[in-house]
Amino acid sequence: MRQFAVLQLSGCAGCEVSLLNAEAWVDRYKLVYMPLVISAYDVPEVDVLLVSGGVRTDEDLYNLRRAARRARQLVAVGTCAISGGVANLGDRDEVRELFLAEAERRHLPRLLPRIRPVDAVVTVDRYLPGCPPTPELFMAVLFTPTDFKVGKTVCRECGRKKRRDMRPTHLIGFEQGEVLPDVCLINQGYLCVGSSTRGGCRALCTRPGHPCVGCRGPSDTFIDKLSSEWFTSIQRVFAAMTDIPAEEIETALRSPQLALFLFQFSDYAGTGRPPRPKEKVL
Ligand code: SF4
Ligand code: SF4
Repeated sequence: MRQFAVLQLSGCAGCEVSLLNAEAWVDRYKLVYMPLVISAYDVPEVDVLLVSGGVRTDEDLYNLRRAARRARQLVAVGTCAISGGVANLGDRDEVRELFLAEAERRHLPRLLPRIRPVDAVVTVDRYLPGCPPTPELFMAVLFTPTDFKVGKTVCRECGRKKRRDMRPTHLIGFEQGEVLPDVCLINQGYLCVGSSTRGGCRALCTRPGHPCVGCRGPSDTFIDKLSSEWFTSIQRVFAAMTDIPAEEIETALRSPQLALFLFQFSDYAGTGRPPRPKEKVL
């Protein structure tokens, strides 16, 4: 039986919970290391090492290098491992000004000068973006089924119909209004960014009526471009489908509520590092 381990660096435990929500691996893989659920001192030799979280502390750096040497295949899973996620927000000046200016941090592991994605330290074989990736995506990266297909964008997986006769003039807050079934959320005035977000989650949020906040990151079209191009494409979609003023969309995209999400998920090419090869990103 193949063995796999889950190394958790600085992040939340969302990816681990998502993995545990899937069952298909239980009979085919032996989970030998995952501090959340298994008491094991160290990562042994494994076929697959899933790494979640970003490299934020000297302890993360040490653990990652050590574990990577024992893995035949290493997969960076989730937003934090790929673009820094929550732990990256403190490195962004605009976010620091918004949220962290007054914060005092004590008694934490010593921080490295900057957070680094996993692939700044070790070679990554595949990338699995998501916050967290869905159980189905975890199984796809572990088993690589030949019939597994994902839509290029969340829109392609959503199924809600875009309408020419519904052009909202202002945005509606996420928690407001009655969401109409089957009609695109943009036509209803919600700030959904599914049009430029990579598919694979089966439009988990938009189908029941929650706007996509982009947790799968930019679609292949934007993955090797600056995050500003991702934002611009969202603006273009709203200009084509609504009469909402561009300034209103811009302000909303950069509002603390949405920026917290989009800044986390958009750093593929904004860190001065080469873009991730598209063929390695699920
Ligand atoms: S609701 Fe969002 S994901 Fe669905 S079709 Fe509209 S823009 Fe695309
Ligand atoms: S719909 Fe958007 S926010 Fe929701 S899981 Fe998919 S990519 Fe993430």
